[in-house]
Amino acid sequence: MDVCDEMTASNSPRLRIAVAGFLQESVTFISEMTTLEQFRQVEAAGAALIERYRGTNTGIGGMIDRCERENAEIVPIFYTFGGAAGPTSDEAYDHYIGRLLEGLRGAGRLDGILLDLHGALATPSRLDADRETLERVRALVGADMPVVVALDYHANIDQASIAAADAVFGYHYSPHTDMGPTGERAADCLFRKLKGEIDPVCVLVKPGVMVPSIFSATGLEPLKSIVARSIAESEKAAAYLDISVFAGFSYADVPNCGFSVVVVTSGDRVAALEIAKRYSADIVAMREALNHKELVYSVESGIAYAKRVVAAGRRPVVLLEHADRMNDSTYLLREVLRQQLPRTVVPYVWDPKAAAAAVAAGKGATVDLSVGGHSSDRAGGPVRLQGKVTHAGRITYRATGPYFTGRLVELGETAVIDTGSVVVSLTSVASTAVDDDCLTQFGQRLDQFDIIVLRSKTHFRAFFERVSADILIVDTPDWGPADLTTLPYRYVPLDRVYPFAEPQGE
Ligand SMILES: [Zn+2]
Repeated sequence: MDVCDEMTASNSPRLRIAVAGFLQESVTFISEMTTLEQFRQVEAAGAALIERYRGTNTGIGGMIDRCERENAEIVPIFYTFGGAAGPTSDEAYDHYIGRLLEGLRGAGRLDGILLDLHGALATPSRLDADRETLERVRALVGADMPVVVALDYHANIDQASIAAADAVFGYHYSPHTDMGPTGERAADCLFRKLKGEIDPVCVLVKPGVMVPSIFSATGLEPLKSIVARSIAESEKAAAYLDISVFAGFSYADVPNCGFSVVVVTSGDRVAALEIAKRYSADIVAMREALNHKELVYSVESGIAYAKRVVAAGRRPVVLLEHADRMNDSTYLLREVLRQQLPRTVVPYVWDPKAAAAAVAAGKGATVDLSVGGHSSDRAGGPVRLQGKVTHAGRITYRATGPYFTGRLVELGETAVIDTGSVVVSLTSVASTAVDDDCLTQFGQRLDQFDIIVLRSKTHFRAFFERVSADILIVDTPDWGPADLTTLPYRYVPLDRVYPFAEPQGE
C-alpha cells in the first residue's frame, strides 16, 4: 500500500455496525409460554456477545466474523434465543424489543444494522412478531439506514414481514449447518451496499405449500435438488444474486405459515420476481413429493424394527420421536422402560423438577421419579423412572457436532439415571440432543448403546446420518405430527394452502 492509500485508510472512520439477535421458533399450539427468564438464562450482551459468538456457526457469529474481517466497529446489543418451544411471552418480547430500540438509540453514529432473527417468533398477541421488530427498528432509524437480516430456514414470512428490511437471507440447509455462512451473506450484502457496489432489492413469493418439519430436511428429495439448484444459480450469476428457499414452520398457527422464496438482486426487481416465481412454481409442482408420506413407524413397530436391526448386528439405531416439541414427550421412553430394552439411551428429557430431585439425592443414590410428559396434554404424561444416579450437577459446554458448532449449551441442573438397561438424562433447561455431546458430557460413548432415542426433526442428521445403522421416524400424537391435517389450525388459510387445499400462492 502506498502512502496515499495508508492516509485514506487511517483517515476514513471505521464503519460502525450494530448487531443483535432475538430468535425463537414458536409452537403456538403449546400453551406454556417461553418466558423472559428462559431467554435471560441464555442471553449474551455487550462485549461478551462478541466473545461468545465469534467463530461459531450461528447467524450472529457469521456477522461478527465478517464485520471483523472488514475492520468494522461492532456495536453489540444482545443475542438471545428461545429454541423451538411454546410462544414467546409478551413480557419477554416487550423486554427485548425495548432493549433493541434502546441499544440502537444509544449507539451513536451507525452505518448499518445486522439482525439475526428467526422469522417464526409469535407471542399471544403477535402472530408475526419479527415483522413488528423490523417495522419498529425501521421507524426508529429512518428510511436511509441499511438494515439487513438473517433468518432461519423455518421462517414463516410474507412480503409484509420483511418489507422494512433492506434484504433478508435464510439458511440454505436443514440441518442448519450453514448458519454462520448465512450471517456472512447478510453482512456481505450490507458491506457491499455501504461501499456502493450493489443496491439490494429483495422480493418474496409464497407458493401456498406447507410441509411437516420432519420432511423439511434438505437431504431429502425433491427439496435437495431445489435447494442445490438455487445455490448454483446464485453462484453462477453474472450480477449479484442471492436466493433463499424457506420451508416455513408448520407448528406455528399463523396466516403466513409455509414455504417462501426470497430473492435479492442489485437493483433488478423484475429479475428478482421472475426467479422467485420460478422456484415457487417448482415447490407447487412438487407439493405431494415434498409431503412424502414415507414410512413412519408407530411406537410399537418402530421399536420392533429397531430390535431386528440390532439383532442383525447393525447398530446403533436412532428412534426418532419427532412429534415431540418440548423435549419431554414420553411415548418412546415409556415403552423402552416397559420392555427394559438393553443398551438404550434416552438423552435430554426436559424435567426441571425430576432433575432437581435426582441432583438433590446425589450421585450413587437410587431414585424413584416421575418424569416428563408435562408440557402439554399431548406430551404423553409422566413416566415412572427408577434407577441409580450416575451424574448429578450443572452441565454447560460448547457444542462439538456439525450443527451449532461451538455454541454454548446450558442444560442447568442435570442428572443421569441408569435403570440397568435404559439410561436417561434429565435436564433443567430444554435442549435437543443432535450429536454425541449428549453422551460424552457424561463420560459415555455411542458404541456403548444399540438404541438412541432422539427428538430432533432434522438437525440430528448432520451427525447421526454418518454414524447410525438406521434412523426410524416414529410418529406420536404430540404437537409436531407428520400429518398436518390432524392439527387444529385457526389462522392458517386452509382454503388456499396445501395439504389442506390446492395451493393459491401470492
Ligand atoms: Zn430451523
